[in-house]
Amino acid sequence: MIKFFKEQPWICFLWILGLICLFILTILFVKTVNFYDFIQKTENKTFDSRQVISVKSGVKKYNKDIVIVAIDDASYEYLTDKYGEWPLPRNIYADLINFLEAQNPSSISFDLMFVSSLKSKVNADAKLVEAMNSYDNILTGMNFDNMSYDVRQPINLPARLKLTVDNKSDVDFQNITFTNCRPILSQILNSNTKIGILNITRSLDGIIREFPAVVKYQNDYYPNLAFLTSLTYLSKLDKKSYNSINIDRNSNILVGSKKIPLNYDGGVILNWYGTSGETYEHIPLYKLVRMMNGEEVKENYDFNNKIIIVGTTATSLADMKSIPITGAGETYPGVEIYATFINNFLDNNFIKKVSPLANILLTIVLASIIGIVIFKTNSTPIAISATVILAVGYTIFTYFAMIHGNLWFDIVIPLATIIFVFVAAYIVKYIIKSRDFEHQYKLATTDGLTELYNHRYFQEQMKMQIAQCNRYKTQFSMIIVDIDHFKGFNDTYGHQAGDAVLRQVAQTLKTNSRATDVVCRYGGEEMSIVLSNTDKEEAIAKAHRICKAVADRTFKISSTQTVNVTISVGVSTYPEDGDTPQQIIEIADQGLYYAKEHGRNQVGLAIYNTNPPEQK
Ligand code: GH3
Ligand code: MG
Ligand code: MG
Repeated sequence: MIKFFKEQPWICFLWILGLICLFILTILFVKTVNFYDFIQKTENKTFDSRQVISVKSGVKKYNKDIVIVAIDDASYEYLTDKYGEWPLPRNIYADLINFLEAQNPSSISFDLMFVSSLKSKVNADAKLVEAMNSYDNILTGMNFDNMSYDVRQPINLPARLKLTVDNKSDVDFQNITFTNCRPILSQILNSNTKIGILNITRSLDGIIREFPAVVKYQNDYYPNLAFLTSLTYLSKLDKKSYNSINIDRNSNILVGSKKIPLNYDGGVILNWYGTSGETYEHIPLYKLVRMMNGEEVKENYDFNNKIIIVGTTATSLADMKSIPITGAGETYPGVEIYATFINNFLDNNFIKKVSPLANILLTIVLASIIGIVIFKTNSTPIAISATVILAVGYTIFTYFAMIHGNLWFDIVIPLATIIFVFVAAYIVKYIIKSRDFEHQYKLATTDGLTELYNHRYFQEQMKMQIAQCNRYKTQFSMIIVDIDHFKGFNDTYGHQAGDAVLRQVAQTLKTNSRATDVVCRYGGEEMSIVLSNTDKEEAIAKAHRICKAVADRTFKISSTQTVNVTISVGVSTYPEDGDTPQQIIEIADQGLYYAKEHGRNQVGLAIYNTNPPEQK
């Protein structure tokens, strides 16, 4: 790495600058947009789209045992007209209970809060309470809140409303723990009617994805109205009473044969069946009132064994909610959310979030596949296609897992990791490749013995220098060096000693050259130096310096023995000595020949050059 930095300081500098920028941007991003919330919100959006596809695919069928008695817009209009007041006098609900019970329904749940009101007539309230107490399958709701003590005193609730929970999981119910309570009619509170809690929870963006099966109030657990309705249904079926539940180590509520997977905060993730009106039979309340009053109604309703939920769907009355499958502006009445919970419970359809550990392992596997593909293939199109196929394939898998297995695999973090690994692997691969290239290039251009540039590189340099001189109208020179009587030296001291001398002569040439000079091993014991932007005069001066430097030093050939050698040198210059590399080399060679002929250990010039260089 350090070597790479030395050789490619600019690329390294740019990389480091890029990484610092990325780091700063990440910090800014994390600070401005709460990063965890951002991931969570995006993940939730992918959940919504999976739910929409799941609903459109028609795989899930809603449960026909659930029916809704709807206080819809028509009922609101008809009944206010008929009774002259709203809310309805409570004896109407008493009549409704008696009327429906005649058909032996599984249960009747009122998604309504019967609070004490100024308008309620004591007599009507009493009739309602009496009707509720006549059966064991009537349920109604009440609400917890965190209103301040100044406004409302928390009350103690009757023990029979509590649900015994044996919690062996880490789920803490922190977000669904309440400090206060909105009391309903004390007669209902103190009678035998089953009362479920009507609280709901929303995600950060206000959409209802999770739903509390149980909530906490004054350290006790209370079932949601939908959960209580489900338990009532199960009790009838199993002929057992379910007023205690277990939560196992894996955060599942276990009750009878049913299993409800809990999220870490105690909510359950609902699986949706369709938009409002597409699911569950909606029976307008006014039609039942007409039937109760003996009027002709053309429909024929069957309530036998049905789970009946009475609630408002009128847009003017209902507290409309946003759920994952509703489009912008579309809403969903609360009563259908309760129906959806019951449906999920009956058919074991709740969405289960895959554990964080499983998500992490899966992410590691995906990232490893991408990493391996990128390092194994040399083709960028293949690497990109493989990454896209893996990302798309994984996304499709998560959709199938949700549609057919009710499983929520994370999408955002695995996909972000795939992209990150793709980019990171490419960067690493690029760095390794460029280092490898440097190494190969060095091998291809260097002479192994002397570590000078090799003959091939010398030839390339000559061509390049000629091109450059032509373009910039400059000149360059070359020096050719041959060791004197080297054959004899080898014969006397051996080849090993010859090699050692060769290396040391090469070193001497290098130390006496500038950074721009290219020192090469021409072949055998001949070496050459290409001097860019150098005229003949400067080249001759340099040749003399080298000649003297070699003659002046000693060469170590063993730990005890040193020797002296000399060199002969020839010089030529482009363009004055020729037009081609061959001609330039030829003239330098002639100079070298002249030097050999005239006693060696000197600089020679070609014969045609009328002024032989003076010895300095
Ligand atoms: P001259 O002064 O005329 O140059 O005499 P010379 O003996 O040096 O003659 P010439 O240049 O023709 O001889 C080249 C010799 O250099 C032949 C060979 O033994 C020796 N030589 C060439 N390459 C190597 C090498 O890589 N290692 C060693 N040890 N010797 C080499
Ligand atoms: Mg030679
Ligand atoms: Mg020689």
